Amino acid sequence: MSAFPLSLLEFQRQFPDEAACAAYLAKQRWPEGFVCPACGGTRGWPLTTKRWTTECAECGRQTSVTAGTVMHRSKLPLTVWFWATYLMATHSNGISAVQIWSQLGLGSYKTAWLLCAKLRSAMVDPNRTSLSGLVEMDETTIPFRTHDDPPAGGKGRSHQGKMLIVGAVEVTNGGPGRIRLRGISDFSAETLAGVVTDTVAPGSTIKTDGWAGYGASADVAHDPHVIGPMAAHIVLPWVHRVFSNLKTWALGVYHGLRRKHMQAYLDEFVFRFNRRRTRHAAFRSLLGIAVTKGPITYDMLIAPEAKG
Ligand SMILES: [Zn+2]
Repeated sequence: MSAFPLSLLEFQRQFPDEAACAAYLAKQRWPEGFVCPACGGTRGWPLTTKRWTTECAECGRQTSVTAGTVMHRSKLPLTVWFWATYLMATHSNGISAVQIWSQLGLGSYKTAWLLCAKLRSAMVDPNRTSLSGLVEMDETTIPFRTHDDPPAGGKGRSHQGKMLIVGAVEVTNGGPGRIRLRGISDFSAETLAGVVTDTVAPGSTIKTDGWAGYGASADVAHDPHVIGPMAAHIVLPWVHRVFSNLKTWALGVYHGLRRKHMQAYLDEFVFRFNRRRTRHAAFRSLLGIAVTKGPITYDMLIAPEAKG
């Protein structure tokens, strides 16, 4: 596999057709050559009747290069998946389903939305490690819009709700490292302690604005700075910058977030932030992560509790 394409033209040259995409997937899946997932056999032959499928010479099991990925059983061409993944991974701020729909000339908005949702679901690495060291933590609210609200509108609308979000930022060498964002139902000590346990490694120190809710975690040191609301951005500069960027991003790319899919969008923001210096690697990361995950159904995507 040659160097990853840095431009749209290079991308087009590298993945011109279905066969090129399938060869890339096969290389990702079997870097040393075909291995049967059923019996471990290494001899197989490509089927002529089923595209991109290898039949094991030992046990006869047929394995598609897309098995176990977000692309499995999709009717869309691999080139469409690859283009959508590339655009999603390399656009600095991300790309909405509406943009994917029009730029790739897809048949329906639902197809585009599902494609984006499936890629987004691959943005959380199930093996990711907790934040560690010094970690800034704070909470914020972000307005959500309902189906009937006008995009990006609703300033001061009384019926517009707010989503509660906790943010955590690793501070390394005086700057931001990795981040996590979590939508929560309330700012109680129990809820916040749960977020600390899930996102921060034991032995770390969390720096907060002094809200006692963060003090309830046994394994993590708490460094509270009791301050007025005006000064929070000075004591906790990085988590506040993340919140500010998140709100701008939500309005700019998605014209406001919807409550139902909030955690998925937060996960996308985290994915982009944590790979902000390696955007082109995000493509491989999206497909690489996808390869280790099981297939995702439409029902799983539309269930709000499907997102951790
Ligand atoms: Zn086999």
